[in-house]
Amino acid sequence: MNEAKGDSIVIYADNAATTKMSPAATEKLISLINDAWGNPSSLYGFGQQAKEILEEARKDVADAIGAEPREILFTSGGSEADNQAIRSAAELGKKNGKMHIISTAFEHHAVLHTLERLEKEGFEVTLLDVHEDGLVVPEEVEAAIRDDTCLVTIMFANNEIGTIQPIREIGAICRQKGVLFHTDAVQAIGHIPVNVVDDNIDMLTASAHKFHGPKGVGFLYAKKTIRLTNLIEGGAQEKGKRGGTENLPGIASSAVALKEAIANMDKNAAHLTEMRDKLIAGLSEIPHSALNGDAKKRLPGNVNFCFEGIEGESLLLLLDDKGIAASSGSACTSGSLDPSHVLLAIGRVHDVAHGSLRLTIGEETTEEDVAYMIQSVKEVVEYLRSFSPIWRDLQAGKKEYIL
Ligand SMILES: *Cc1c(COP(=O)(O)O)cnc(C)c1O
Repeated sequence: MNEAKGDSIVIYADNAATTKMSPAATEKLISLINDAWGNPSSLYGFGQQAKEILEEARKDVADAIGAEPREILFTSGGSEADNQAIRSAAELGKKNGKMHIISTAFEHHAVLHTLERLEKEGFEVTLLDVHEDGLVVPEEVEAAIRDDTCLVTIMFANNEIGTIQPIREIGAICRQKGVLFHTDAVQAIGHIPVNVVDDNIDMLTASAHKFHGPKGVGFLYAKKTIRLTNLIEGGAQEKGKRGGTENLPGIASSAVALKEAIANMDKNAAHLTEMRDKLIAGLSEIPHSALNGDAKKRLPGNVNFCFEGIEGESLLLLLDDKGIAASSGSACTSGSLDPSHVLLAIGRVHDVAHGSLRLTIGEETTEEDVAYMIQSVKEVVEYLRSFSPIWRDLQAGKKEYIL
């Protein structure tokens, strides 16, 4: 355990938590901070120039997902867009006496906690099973829809285990039943194809810092026929649906990052998938380990494993010593001792869920990086097991292996 590489990050494998900004997005951000600091709501030329930049960004973002510019609302990120989409659907539902919402047990907390709040306000929420492979079954969505269902909200791709849901099929069912369909597509946008028309999506959430754009910027797509509810009252910005002077540099920089991600998507996905599958193959050699989520229906850069007899936090700290920045699952649950709600949702028991590792690689990840990660994880898992009481009991036959 002594060949520590110090504090500097050698390999960044936490792209699901956030991504590094692309040089083009950074350049755009800085140039607008310097040169286009006018208020888009002002009437003089300098303000109007800012307004034009804003509307150009809106068009680029809309084009990227097959929407119309007027269907894009810029927000402070994915969490806000999730909150606003769900709140809006709930408000519309309430007016029509429809107070039932369908979602899944492994959504992001921005969705789950909003739903918990709505439950306290009298809504009924059905959380669908995501099964062992981390996938929702469209027929189960159909069976859960009732006369009083106002919304189905199911994420496009999971942020911890990377599984990609059958969104198009689920969207088609919702459309046929006349129920609004929202998807948190934060992990999907810029990484896999998303088209709101082809995929039958009524509302969609995206966040720029997950596709090499800046933090604190996201957008909500809402079909033009949907009346949104404000989370922030204020001026007439964003068609009066979100008060507050727009974060113009952030928004324009996000549009640059998104266009770039989409232009390079095929090339990036091919490389990431190759690296991902090598990483999965290497880590699978560790005894009593298991990949979490379907091996193929997952994001190109996502690898998530459970290792029996170890504790995820120690694993992360020792990998950090080796210069590998990884995660045990969601950045939002780090610091709490509860195992990941996503891993519990796919049926991992507490003990096993505690020994999880998420490696979300990036476009710059090389074959040497993959080999180094495999070697490092093997060493660290073996080391941690060498003094794990649970592992000793398993080895001695006093406990049954689960994996
Ligand atoms: C990161 C993330 C969010 C939150 O986005 P922010 O811009 O950080 O608020 C929501 N949903 C998913 C699936 C995410 O991965």
